[in-house]
Amino acid sequence: MNSVIEITRAKQSNLPQIDFGNLQFGSVFSDHMFAMEYVDGSWQNHRIEPFGAIEVHPVSASLHYGQTIFEGLKAYRGPDGQIRVFRPEMNHQRMNSSCERMCMPKIDEKTFIDAIQQLVHTDRDWVPPGEKQALYIRPVMFANEGQLDVRPANRYRFLIITSPVDSYFGMNTVAVALKAEEKFTRAIQGGTGFAKAGGNYAATFLATNEGRKEGFAQILWLDGVEHRYVEEVGQMNICFYLDGKLITPQLRGTILPGVTRDSVLRLVNDMGIECEERLIDIQEIIDGSMNGTLQEAFGCGTAAIITAVGSIGYRGRKYEINCGKTGPLSKKLFKQIIGIQRGEIEDPYGWTKVIPNH
Ligand SMILES: *Cc1c(COP(=O)(O)O)cnc(C)c1O
Repeated sequence: MNSVIEITRAKQSNLPQIDFGNLQFGSVFSDHMFAMEYVDGSWQNHRIEPFGAIEVHPVSASLHYGQTIFEGLKAYRGPDGQIRVFRPEMNHQRMNSSCERMCMPKIDEKTFIDAIQQLVHTDRDWVPPGEKQALYIRPVMFANEGQLDVRPANRYRFLIITSPVDSYFGMNTVAVALKAEEKFTRAIQGGTGFAKAGGNYAATFLATNEGRKEGFAQILWLDGVEHRYVEEVGQMNICFYLDGKLITPQLRGTILPGVTRDSVLRLVNDMGIECEERLIDIQEIIDGSMNGTLQEAFGCGTAAIITAVGSIGYRGRKYEINCGKTGPLSKKLFKQIIGIQRGEIEDPYGWTKVIPNH
């Protein structure tokens, strides 16, 4: 497998213009990106090049039919100065599972991880030092072939771009308000809900916009058949701390199998708290909010790590959770995960991968 990466350096770095004290999520990008093409049945021309506009064929299936997928992970700069990425092999696995669903060519693990490591190494000065900051890493793959026929393309482009970010929801102290969505649907069994496929996200904009107008930060998606079972939130998985147990919707093809979700389940289990992955009826959550057995609720995902849920709007009523505040389990998990990611606390799970310093 050819995975020698050619590096073309940017003539000038944009780094001096960047204010690390004031980062808007996903609005500044580092100097370089990784790129390669799938042509004649193999991935070719592995390279790191200056970040910038690219050519896309005007009739590519990504533009017309949505044949495009992505991933998301982060690199963290620890207090020891080392840079670590968190469980990149899980993102690789998930990307390949998205590829399979969308009839796109897979990438082998070594190519994927090497590309991330070398790109982050090339732009290591872009990994911000703040406690809640990171370099967000966004791999993306899309069809790039001049054919209008409705079929999988024969040519693809794979890119990795990176962006220095603050934690997605600012300081993670404010618990967010969710709207349990009864009109719109994100995914159904047999669909593409488990894949990080572009179209899944465009399809959520309208519901999110309507929810925002009503004062909700995010949509709490319910199942597409009965609008009864809880699924997930925006770009996060959802967990409830109900009556001493951690419960989260099971993976049944409609929700994204989050790396953070998997990590949370492991950590909570190791704290001695029972975890259940199962169907969760929204009524069970509403009842828990009313009778006080629902101790906490939180979303989990790479962008914000843990985001506490302060209330859920359902059928025109608002149900509070933990008096609208971030609870102790949410805080503890946030600290543990970010501690492992930044190398501040021991990583007994082998989750972090240090970016070599050469
Ligand atoms: C990316 C994503 C998540 C979270 O996955 P992580 O691997 O934890 O970042 C959850 N739900 C959706 C819809 C997502 O796109």
